[in-house]
Amino acid sequence: MQTHVIVGAGMAGAKAAETLREEGFDGRVVIVGSEPDRPYERPPLSKDYLRGESEREAAFVHEAGFYGEKDIELRTETTATVVDLGAKEVELEGGERIGFDRLLLTPGAEPRRLPVPGADLDGVLYLRELQDSEALRERIEAGGHAVIIGAGWIGAEVAASARTKGLDVTLVEREDVPLGTSLGRELGEIYAGIHRDHGVDLITGAQVEALEGDGRVERVRLAGGRTIDCAFVAVGIGVAPRTQLAEAAGLACDNGILTDQLLRTSAGEVFAAGDAANAVHPFYGHRIRVEHWHNALEQGPAAARSMLGDGTPYDQIPYFFSDQYEVGMEYAGHAREWESVVFRGDVEAREFIAFWLHGNRVVAGMNVNVWDVTDAIQGLIHSRKLVDAAQLQDPDVPLEDLDSR
Ligand SMILES: Cc1cc2nc3c(=O)[nH]c(=O)nc-3n(C[C@H](O)[C@H](O)[C@H](O)COP(=O)(O)OP(=O)(O)OC[C@H]3O[C@@H](n4cnc5c(N)ncnc54)[C@H](O)[C@@H]3O)c2cc1C
Repeated sequence: MQTHVIVGAGMAGAKAAETLREEGFDGRVVIVGSEPDRPYERPPLSKDYLRGESEREAAFVHEAGFYGEKDIELRTETTATVVDLGAKEVELEGGERIGFDRLLLTPGAEPRRLPVPGADLDGVLYLRELQDSEALRERIEAGGHAVIIGAGWIGAEVAASARTKGLDVTLVEREDVPLGTSLGRELGEIYAGIHRDHGVDLITGAQVEALEGDGRVERVRLAGGRTIDCAFVAVGIGVAPRTQLAEAAGLACDNGILTDQLLRTSAGEVFAAGDAANAVHPFYGHRIRVEHWHNALEQGPAAARSMLGDGTPYDQIPYFFSDQYEVGMEYAGHAREWESVVFRGDVEAREFIAFWLHGNRVVAGMNVNVWDVTDAIQGLIHSRKLVDAAQLQDPDVPLEDLDSR
C-alpha cells in the first residue's frame, strides 16, 4: 500500500488530503501538524473571530469527524523535524519515522519578528494562530490604547477590529501609505483615508526604534523621539515562508520552496503548496509565491492531483480579499509594475473597481464594496487584451464586453 504524507496541517494540507481521497487514492494518508487544533482557516483570526463575533468551530476547514471518516491520519501537535529523501521517510519529533511514496510540504509562513529593543516585553503580540487571536482578543477586551505596528493586511485588519471594538488605536507604518507594498500609493491613500475616518491615528513614514516598559510594554518609541503610550502592541510586519525543513533536506529554496508548474520540488516525489511554495506560474512565465487563503485552497488540491500523476499545471490567477470596517474588497491579479490605475465607480463613497494597467493591459483589479465581478476581472487579466481606459472607467460598458477571449 502506498503512503502519502503531508507536512503542515493548514488550509493547503487539509484540502490536499481531501483531494487525495476524492481522486480515489486508497492508500495511507498522513497529515502532520504542529498546532494542537485540526486544520482551520486564518482569515477570521483578524476579523470576526478576533472581535468575538463568530464561533471557534466556524473557523475549521472540516468537521471534527471528517478525517476519521475519510481514513486520513491527522497527527496534531506533531512536528516533522527531518525529511530524509534517501530513505523516503519523514522523522517526527520524538524520533518516529514515517515512510512515504509522495510527500507534500505545506508548512506555511511565520510572522517576522520586530528587530528592536524591548520587542520581547509582555504585551507585544503577533497574529498567526488561533491562540494568538484569542490572546489578542483578551487584550482588546481589556481596552486601552492599542499600537499596531505595520499597516499591511494583518495590521490594517487588526487596527480596524480594535477600533470597531472601541479602542483608541495608533497604526504605525514605515512606508508613506498603508498597504502600499501590494496596492501602491493611490489605493494606499484610499485606505489611509478609511482608517483616519474611523478615528485611527495613522502615523506613516515612521520607524519604530524601541518598545519600552517595566516588564510589559508601556510605550512605543519612534525614530525622532516621539513616544506613544499603549496598553499593548500588535505587530504585523509580514511573514517569512517556512523553508527550514526543505532546505535541510537539500530541496531548492529561494523565497519559499521552489516548485515547477506541477508544484513538484527539486525532488520529484516531493511537492509543495500554499504560503511556503514559490511555484512556476504558466501565465506569468516565472515563479510567484502567494500568501493568500485562495491560493492555499486551490494549490493544495492541485498538488494532490500532481502527486497522483495528473499533469495539469497550476495556473490560477491570484485572488485575495480583506474586510476592514464596512469596507470589503477582493483583488485579482499579481501587479508588480504598472503605469496607471484606472477607477470605475464612486471612489469617495468607497464603492468602486480599480484596475492596474501595464502596457494598456489589465494586470490586476480590485473591487471595493462592489461584488460578483471577480470572474470578469480575471477574464480581462487572462485575455491580455489591450483595453481603452475610458471604456474601463465607464460603468455602462459591461466588463465582459472588454474581454476578448
Ligand atoms: C490573521 C490572518 C488573517 C488572514 N486573512 C486573510 C484574508 O482575509 N484573505 C486572504 O486571502 N488571506 C488571509 N490570510 C492568509 C491565509 O490565511 C494564508 O495564506 C493561509 O493560511 C496559507 O495556508 P497554508 O496552508 O499554506 O499555511 P498555514 O495556514 O500557515 O499552515 C501551515 C501549517 O503547517 C504547520 N507546520 C509548519 N511546519 C511544520 C512541521 N515541520 N511539522 C508539522 N507542522 C508544521 C504550521 O504550524 C501550520 O499550522 C490571513 C492570515 C492570517 C494569519
